[in-house]
Amino acid sequence: MASRKQELTTAEWVKVFGQAAAIGMLHVHLTGGEPLLRTDIVELVAAARANNLYSNLITSGVGLNEQKLSALVNAGLDHIQLSFQDSRAEGASAIAGVNALSKKIDAARLICETTLAFTVNVVVHRKNIDRLEELIAFAQELGPQRIEIANVQYYGWAMENRDLLLPSREQLEQSLETLKRVTSGAKAPHNDTVNAGLKACATQEQEISGSDEEITSAAKAGNDSRGIGTAEAVPYQSKDGDSTVEAVPCQSEGKITSGAKAPSNGVVNAGLKACATQEREISGSEKEMTSATRERRQDAAETAGETPALEETLAAAHIQFVTPDYYGKFPKPCMGGWGRRLMLIDPAGRAMPCHAAAVIPDIQFENVRERSLKSIWEESAAFQMFRGTEWLQEPCKSCPKQTQDFGGCRCQAFLLTGDASATDPVCSLSPQRSRVDDVLQIINAVKETPPPQTQFSYRTNPQ
Ligand code: SF4
Repeated sequence: MASRKQELTTAEWVKVFGQAAAIGMLHVHLTGGEPLLRTDIVELVAAARANNLYSNLITSGVGLNEQKLSALVNAGLDHIQLSFQDSRAEGASAIAGVNALSKKIDAARLICETTLAFTVNVVVHRKNIDRLEELIAFAQELGPQRIEIANVQYYGWAMENRDLLLPSREQLEQSLETLKRVTSGAKAPHNDTVNAGLKACATQEQEISGSDEEITSAAKAGNDSRGIGTAEAVPYQSKDGDSTVEAVPCQSEGKITSGAKAPSNGVVNAGLKACATQEREISGSEKEMTSATRERRQDAAETAGETPALEETLAAAHIQFVTPDYYGKFPKPCMGGWGRRLMLIDPAGRAMPCHAAAVIPDIQFENVRERSLKSIWEESAAFQMFRGTEWLQEPCKSCPKQTQDFGGCRCQAFLLTGDASATDPVCSLSPQRSRVDDVLQIINAVKETPPPQTQFSYRTNPQ
């Protein structure tokens, strides 16, 4: 976390966006903290558009009014993700530390009156996952094109509160049954519960993560000649006054590369190589799913007790369900691989391969104030450290899945084992899987749901 006075200025962010576009990045995710706390957020969106970057605002919705939204749309914003902690004020307040649910719902209504692509994210955990059907109906009624139901992942402050948040296995299995029932036979993103807000959004362009559709016509207009790229970094700012980083995706195939000119510099080359073997991540239609992606998803589904059939019904309903890593059989390909397709620039300008990388000690993350994105991406020790597969230890070193998951999440490996280069202990093949199983044993031994814990530990303001 950084204090407000340490944050990059508008001019510095604009420079970063220009450098990002120059090396072939396509997306900028403005996340947080809370990006709307940046008083220059409209200027930043305009800078993203000026550089032909697809812009995604990931926001709580608090602070979003008609005037601000209109300014963002006019500046060229492409997509908004609105995050909810619960469908009920009490549950939402318990996580957020403030009662903001009605403001978020108002924000959703405003978004549905625009032409923006719209995703609703609902965070689920031990205390609300038993109301999954209610949460899905709530999200649908907000009228998005896409819904993300995401179990908490255990980094940062979630790690601090893990025992309160991690669902029991019984809860997880029940939630999967609920998903099957609720999404069975789904043909469209919404069901009959959808309200007028849905109609307002019905003609909007669908947001399909990672697919060609994610690159809007505006983005395509500027990026077609560039070919490929990575995504990019974006500023965010929390109510605590700090800003943060974001990620970078890349497109390995499809319309965006059609007729692409050769990359003009090394960073783009690196990005191309990084992307060359990737498959598109498809949240939308099954037809776009490559065999490798299908296999990976089936692994994840198997891990969580899901079935391929469930996965397909979720895709048909435009719902993405993120299971807790700890119940997985294999780890996720975190960020698509370290230093492979994403750069996160934190509020103070540090460039990192993911949002949580700063938890790993003794890594020197370079700052965009002192070095170009191109140089950082290509040459910095931090981005080289776990890039590719050369660094892998056994059992990853000889595992056929190494090019799918890259040994899992480096931050999770560090947090659970103290060794950032270890096999992610979520993997059933890891010699340290017992560290995860021990946690699950304790969690599942607790009969009460939620467990009889004390209180959440909340993030504190930076000084
Ligand atoms: S051993 Fe390593 S590469 Fe193989 S599945 Fe587990 S984490 Fe992935």
